Amino acid sequence: MAWRSHGKDHEDLIRNLRSNGVITSDAVEKAMLMVDRGKYSKKNPYHDSPQSIGYGVNISAPHMHACSLTLLQDHLKKGNRALDVGCGSGYLTACMGHMVGKGGLSVGIDHFPELVEQARENINNDSPELLKSGIVQLVVGDGRKGYAAGGPYDAIHVGAASPEPPKSLVDQLAPGGCLVIPVGPADGGQNLEKIEKLANGTVKRTKLMGVRYVSLSDKKDQWPGR
Ligand code: SAH
Repeated sequence: MAWRSHGKDHEDLIRNLRSNGVITSDAVEKAMLMVDRGKYSKKNPYHDSPQSIGYGVNISAPHMHACSLTLLQDHLKKGNRALDVGCGSGYLTACMGHMVGKGGLSVGIDHFPELVEQARENINNDSPELLKSGIVQLVVGDGRKGYAAGGPYDAIHVGAASPEPPKSLVDQLAPGGCLVIPVGPADGGQNLEKIEKLANGTVKRTKLMGVRYVSLSDKKDQWPGR
């Protein structure tokens, strides 16, 4: 399959994503080159497929990370503010952190403290300067409520599917901002949507393609015993 861009190592994975046309811009290539998936996934990090990170969830496939960054790249300019809902491994939070750079903010939020701790360790092993500088902040909480303290956001990425886009996330978008979110039920039939807040505050929704993500859920529905 053309979209499967497995690599033999970090650089090879990014090279294959670019030559297969999954990465189409220098900005996204540069950010993904700065974040080594080998620091975020213990298993098969350079396979172009999701991998388990525990607690019933996966680090997304590299082609989906590339796709989300591509959709959001115009809103991930230097100094912009970004929110990564369901940050899991922290991979995309780090990529967004590199894109917004000094003076920018990339907040990762997840409802499992263990995953937030894992994300902190991963980013610390890969790009410690993002944490030291405060460009990346990691927060434990229900991502459906967003994180108003860091907003309003130019870019919001949601890494888990919701039956409808949560109102708080749309509210926390800055005018001109963009939200990328899988919308649909847990058992399939989800679409990746781009939701833009225009300069006059009007909200525009665009369905992009069929996808399959875990649910943006209550903790107890994700992992037994919670
Ligand atoms: N984008 C991440 C993880 C995707 S898996 C990566 O590629 O590594 C989806 C993540 O959403 C999981 O980490 C899960 O714990 C989180 N999640 C699900 N429901 C949530 C909620 N209500 N609030 C916050 N995080 C949630």
